[in-house]
Amino acid sequence: MKLNISDTFNSQLASDPNTDNSRRKVFEAMYSFVAPKIPSNPKLIHVSSEMTKVLGLDKKDIDSQDFLEVFSGTKIYPHTNPYAMAYAGHQFGNWAGQLGDGRAINLFEIEHNQKRWALQLKGAGETPYSRQGDGLAVLRSSVREYLCSEAMFHLNVPTTRALSLMTSGDEVLRDMLYDGNAAYEKGAIVCRVSPTFIRFGNFELFAARQDYKNLKLLTDYTLKYFYPELGEPSKDTYVKLFQEVARRTLEMIIHWQRVGFVHGVMNTDNMSILGLTIDYGPYGWLEGFDFGWTPNTTDRQNKRYRYGNQPNIGLWNLLQLANALYPLVEEAEPFETVLKQYQTDFESKSLQMMRSKLGLRIADNNDIHLITDLEDCLLLSETDMTIFFRLLSHYKKGNEEAGLKMVEQAFYNPTKISDAIAEQWKVWFKSYDQRLQKEQLTDQERKAHMNLVNPKYVLRNYMAQLAIDEADKGDYNLIDELFNLLKKPYDEQPENQKWFAKRPEWARYKVGCSMLSCSS
Ligand code: AMP
Ligand code: MG
Repeated sequence: MKLNISDTFNSQLASDPNTDNSRRKVFEAMYSFVAPKIPSNPKLIHVSSEMTKVLGLDKKDIDSQDFLEVFSGTKIYPHTNPYAMAYAGHQFGNWAGQLGDGRAINLFEIEHNQKRWALQLKGAGETPYSRQGDGLAVLRSSVREYLCSEAMFHLNVPTTRALSLMTSGDEVLRDMLYDGNAAYEKGAIVCRVSPTFIRFGNFELFAARQDYKNLKLLTDYTLKYFYPELGEPSKDTYVKLFQEVARRTLEMIIHWQRVGFVHGVMNTDNMSILGLTIDYGPYGWLEGFDFGWTPNTTDRQNKRYRYGNQPNIGLWNLLQLANALYPLVEEAEPFETVLKQYQTDFESKSLQMMRSKLGLRIADNNDIHLITDLEDCLLLSETDMTIFFRLLSHYKKGNEEAGLKMVEQAFYNPTKISDAIAEQWKVWFKSYDQRLQKEQLTDQERKAHMNLVNPKYVLRNYMAQLAIDEADKGDYNLIDELFNLLKKPYDEQPENQKWFAKRPEWARYKVGCSMLSCSS
């Protein structure tokens, strides 16, 4: 396996002079060199063939002993120096100080087709940043990250990617629900891929320590490699960088709202400086449409990271990034302007996104009412978001009477639809129908447009859990089946219709399906 290694982060930025793998606070350095733990019996479970193509790897490479050894952490690729990044962060609204890659080890960067990619193993053993953790990951959470990050890519949501999923052959002790019932689970390693894994927290670390020298070096590095179009480093360019990160962050979150993805743990150490979805932990997919839903049991009290709050949290996190970048600019106003703009853009972009979900091409002043009325209807009784929007595309103008019947399949409890609820829905379909009369599109054209933004298949929480249960028994067929299904989330795929279904009742309160914790 021949890779075009092109390391920059660990060759151009300050390293921790201490090369022991001991847990510690690291100062005036962006990362620490550390070797992955050698797994006892690594086995390749799945490879993303889309990702291998992007990296320039062929079938022979994937089947090679080299691939198994390098992406399980058994062997270090020649002339590379793996490292863990130093970063800090705000967790659940509180300053958490130094965090860093506690269970992720960056292997190297490669360049292929003029694109730069950093490859990183998640779950490859302890690092100086592991704090109380063991640096390992279990099969359960690795299957979830592997399947979801590739699924998000195919949904056109900005995201980090995954190359491979392996079991390590080692056992890992986890208290899955933090209730004192620890048990051994199978260890696993995912190779994640992104142009860079720099997070808001990398900047916060240096700002908090008033290490402005490294803060500037990190920011200049980020500009040079990932935002060259913004220009040479200057106060003005730093503001432009912030503006672009804000724009991308908002865009990413609007995509999450569109597909019903709830990240679950939007701490600033989990916010990519490239506006990519990163760190797939206790995430979940909306089944019943509900602004208040979060899959993360660790966040059950305050529901800080609930579906409806994600755009606000994006703004809150950007404020932390603004504070971190402020010493480079020494003026608050330009940052405030960007943060204000985020709020205005949020209003207009989410409206535009909802219009697209409804198949509306032109902008009408009353659309906001049509949308809030729809949201009210969706909340009347538990209504599956994915199924509802997909079925809505079948609507034919002038058939308002048939509207409700058409989407009935999205109701979790169709027998409980009272006359009052049905009436409210009928009123909504009437206004939807009137609104459609203003559009130029035919029913068929509108359907085609809607089906490009309303996925038919998403990684429902119970689907991932079924794949995990099988994988725990050593059967990886369902991982492959779901992986392939989710490559074409907007296609009809009639042969896969069984996955276009509401969450089964058994999954309503099952651990892993509706309840997840940060334990992974
Ligand atoms: P997360 O909530 O997954 O984003 O993790 C927050 C922080 O805890 C990061 O610094 C992780 O590297 C660290 N962490 C999480 N799990 C482990 C683990 N098993 N071992 C070491 N560090 C961990
Ligand atoms: Mg994290």
